Amino acid sequence: MPPKTVACINSTGRQAASFIRAASAVGWHVRAQIRSNEGLVAEELAELSNVEFIEGDLTGPDRNRLLAGLFANVKIAFINTTHWGDEVAIGKACADAAKKAGVTHYVYSSMPDHSAFGRGWRALPMWSSKFAIENYVRQIGIPATFIYTGIYNNNFSSLPYPLFQMELQDDGSFVWQAPFHPDDPLPWLDAEHDVGPALLQIFKMGPSHWKGQRVTLAFEKLTPIQCCARFARGVGRPVRYVHGPIKIQVTIPSGYREQLDILQETLADKRAPYFPGLEYPREGRSIWEGYRGIEEYAREVFPIEEYANGLRWMEEGVSTPSEADTESRPITPSGVPAQVRFSGAYTPRSHPEGLDNDFFVGSM
Ligand code: NAD
Repeated sequence: MPPKTVACINSTGRQAASFIRAASAVGWHVRAQIRSNEGLVAEELAELSNVEFIEGDLTGPDRNRLLAGLFANVKIAFINTTHWGDEVAIGKACADAAKKAGVTHYVYSSMPDHSAFGRGWRALPMWSSKFAIENYVRQIGIPATFIYTGIYNNNFSSLPYPLFQMELQDDGSFVWQAPFHPDDPLPWLDAEHDVGPALLQIFKMGPSHWKGQRVTLAFEKLTPIQCCARFARGVGRPVRYVHGPIKIQVTIPSGYREQLDILQETLADKRAPYFPGLEYPREGRSIWEGYRGIEEYAREVFPIEEYANGLRWMEEGVSTPSEADTESRPITPSGVPAQVRFSGAYTPRSHPEGLDNDFFVGSM
């Protein structure tokens, strides 16, 4: 029997790349749209077995031809649209092409529209476009499942990005400042580690199991205070949460500024749930038990990603380890030069477009 073929778009993004790694590892054939085959992630995916690239830009005039090629003879697809270009038009074009090709299980990565709940909440623009696409997929009647992905663990960076900066202090500790109420639960996901295996299970269970349901991919439900405590245990340094406004210290496009303003109003000032009406983390964990939590992320991955981003704090100690608000331990073995510990450790930069002029950090 020929291997299963699955189609993906935005294949170098964290969600699709995670899925492609998992699908390739179990012998599925992946038809993967990418904008360019240059860059760390594209080069890594090109080395995997059974991955066929469809190279071209979905924001351009060639979209329909690209999509016809992408979906030809394909029965299953994972589609994660992004804010680049007209997201709704791209999302609808993907759904139309999938329907035309006879796709029998379409998994779309959606997000909520808070304005739909009749509670006076405004829609976060970069999320509600996904909800509009979800509705279109439902309307045209492709057998579909909608995943709602939590906040990526690797949004955190010590670089001065808005909302998820883990700001390094002079004493070696970190401070995360955000507008979320310190006691409000938030959904957490390690996108690179867990989207792939969870999606494999969702595809294996098939569309009739899900019947158009929404599935929340968030494996931990933690308040900001709980998140910082676990991060501190992982990274081996104190991490303090500061409940405060979003700091904008880099140039961001106006669309992203609007997203952040409404996020602050809706999720922080009005304390709307992040995913209204959705259950987590029980369902996600029932699909995939081997998730990577924030503590493990902070211990195993954060220093490596930071090192790849040119930061060197991990080479220095914490000046007041006894002040750690949780038990602390050295994050790296002592006495080994950092170049030795980290050289050869492979990681894509956690924010591929970081500090570019058109930077959106994961468009939270
Ligand atoms: P990513 O952020 O890891 O990567 C960005 C993708 O956009 C890459 O594929 C890149 O090649 C592509 N890209 C960059 N510049 C582009 C350009 N000029 N034109 C077209 N494409 C370009 O991707 P991801 O995290 O897999 O998906 C992003 C989506 O995920 C966003 O819509 C975001 O709202 C959503 N999301 C993010 C989070 C989070 O916590 N960061 C959580 C839930 C949902």
